[in-house]
Amino acid sequence: MLDGTDRWAPGRRWAAGCGAALLLLAGCTSSPEERAEEAGPAADCATAERAAPDPDRPRVVLDFRLEDDLRTVTGTETLAFTPDRQVGELWFRLIPNAPQSAGHELRVDAVRGDLVAGGRHVDAEAASGTPGGLYRVGLREPVQAGETVSVELDFTLRLTTGGTPAGFDRLGVAEGVTWWAGGFPLLTWEPGHGWARDPFSDISGETTAATVADTTIRVSAPGDLTVLMTGAQEEARAEAGGRRLWESHEPVARDVNVAVGEFETAQVQAGDTAVTAGVLPGADTSAEELAEDTAAAIALLEARFGPFPYPTLTVPLVADDGGGEEYPSSILLGNEDFGLVVHEVAHMWFYGMVGNSQFRDPWLDEAFATYAESIAADEDRGHDDDLDRGGPVAGTMAEFTDQDDYEWRAYSKGAAALHAARDAAGPEAFDEAIRCYVETQAWTIARPEDLARALAGLQPALDVLVGAGALDRSHVEAAGE
Ligand SMILES: [Zn+2]
Repeated sequence: MLDGTDRWAPGRRWAAGCGAALLLLAGCTSSPEERAEEAGPAADCATAERAAPDPDRPRVVLDFRLEDDLRTVTGTETLAFTPDRQVGELWFRLIPNAPQSAGHELRVDAVRGDLVAGGRHVDAEAASGTPGGLYRVGLREPVQAGETVSVELDFTLRLTTGGTPAGFDRLGVAEGVTWWAGGFPLLTWEPGHGWARDPFSDISGETTAATVADTTIRVSAPGDLTVLMTGAQEEARAEAGGRRLWESHEPVARDVNVAVGEFETAQVQAGDTAVTAGVLPGADTSAEELAEDTAAAIALLEARFGPFPYPTLTVPLVADDGGGEEYPSSILLGNEDFGLVVHEVAHMWFYGMVGNSQFRDPWLDEAFATYAESIAADEDRGHDDDLDRGGPVAGTMAEFTDQDDYEWRAYSKGAAALHAARDAAGPEAFDEAIRCYVETQAWTIARPEDLARALAGLQPALDVLVGAGALDRSHVEAAGE
């Protein structure tokens, strides 16, 4: 994510023309073929081909209904989960109950399933007044690795129109628009490790670890509103009562963003990706401009990080004074700024495809998304001075002292460290190693040692990242084993 404050230097130059119109794209970058050639294969990489997602990943169907009050969402989640180690219970994260979202509330109303013994909310340092930040489903008997357990959960999400501590937030209601990202019980499983039951943080940032799931989303909404969400969307179908039913499918979703509003939309093609942007009446930008800016960002970042992870991307702009938040194949925007768009598009690689525990290793996605901003800014890196800041880049969300400490270390110092590592190793070798990291860790939850492994052989880069407190020696040693 990126909050609403402008952390870019005044007068920072974004690549000329790229933010203005796709028609100018030829002037600021090369053709898709040239870009592929420029990027080259992930040489010296054990797996040059992008890793495929786990065929046994969870299958999720989400049925949402936005009530006519435009601030109540009722829903049912149907989950088929095949764990890779034995489990005796299931855990779900209730993101809307985080302190930073205080005022919103997500409650599980019922849980069903052949093996279900019962369910209960668990506090996990959620906002007071909410039922809790986690939901535990007890099972009658353990489910073995490789077996499938199926459950259904009914839930109610209540959205407030008032402000939240985070200001612009992943959930909200404003004139003509309602949005909810992470607005359902999110299975919080980390393959190979187990349940991620981390507490929430007062700092405005994500705290989630969720595996990719084959996800179908259906949204019933008042008929005059348009839905923009995670996944490839079908044409809306008419429903009784003047409503419309919207459906999408995303085979590799860690989470889900849904925005419902009086959107004017525009679609452009960015390489193999269909970009759909939506803006509300009276917005400072047009849907066409936003779609073209997003396509330009995709083209710039593909040249560095390889093919865009998803065949579709939706970009609902829901406010004019906020930041941005990344979700799989969907970006929730609270402001129109090309640098912000680049940051959030970069998250499609770093968070969306190469996942991480946003509680344990927040720098793994935020440092890379911040580092990526320079690709669109005429290589104006902006953060170099931040390498001298005190404190390590790495830290859990419980270890940063406040919002500034978090952003300076995980974002700015992290980006500066990546730039310095690239300088130390040589840009070509470093970029190839990062491509290797991206392609081999696709659709997993990566850990710092996975990055260290990709950089093995580039000792000067490892030394920089260790020196900045991004990696530590144990990661480097683990990578060498
Ligand atoms: Zn971010």
